[in-house]
Amino acid sequence: MRILVVEDEHKIANSVKRGLEQESYAVDVAYTGSNGYDLASVEEYDLIILDRLLPEMDGIEIAKKLREQKIHTPILMLTAKGQVTDRVEGLDAGADDYLVKPFAFEELLARIRALTRRPKDSLGMILTVSDLMLNSANYEVKRSAKSIQLSSKEYALLEYLMRHPDQTLTKDQIISHVWNYDADVLPNTVEVYIGYLRNKIDKPFKNRPALIQTVRGFGYKIG
Ligand code: CA
Repeated sequence: MRILVVEDEHKIANSVKRGLEQESYAVDVAYTGSNGYDLASVEEYDLIILDRLLPEMDGIEIAKKLREQKIHTPILMLTAKGQVTDRVEGLDAGADDYLVKPFAFEELLARIRALTRRPKDSLGMILTVSDLMLNSANYEVKRSAKSIQLSSKEYALLEYLMRHPDQTLTKDQIISHVWNYDADVLPNTVEVYIGYLRNKIDKPFKNRPALIQTVRGFGYKIG
């Protein structure tokens, strides 16, 4: 899952980025409002963490403009003051939730999980495809009840595939949701990681059908 953090306080922005990367999110950071707005309009994100007060263009204006452009990416607004009018203004502008600074990182994670959960996952954060199960609350992956250890990128790739079962995803779609803007993504990076996943998800389970499928000329799907 890919997240954009728009925050002018470098210390906060960088620690949020580091923390989220440890949780397997791909993260881009913008330190000014206009840079954040540009990235949010051009790139595909699963969530935007948007500071309320920013140089050049503030969070309210960014949220409003994105919604006017029919960009419906969930927005979690950060506000320093925590005043009621501030929060109402943020929600009115199109933010989906807000968090008052300073906040505990655990709370940020909980809000992110709540905002990125699809309605159909209302039973929890467990995704299943055949006998493969992924629990996004504790990063547990199992196939036929056997635990599977994944690296953080492998996990992010599998989660993205499992959120779109039986749907062909192009390499470009995969790259834009699993890797951040600055990452060195070579043309065969997706193939390489798909290979890693197959070695862990499909190869050890020889009596079970292979779940990760190549759709020649298009991309990949799980199902
Ligand atoms: Ca600020």
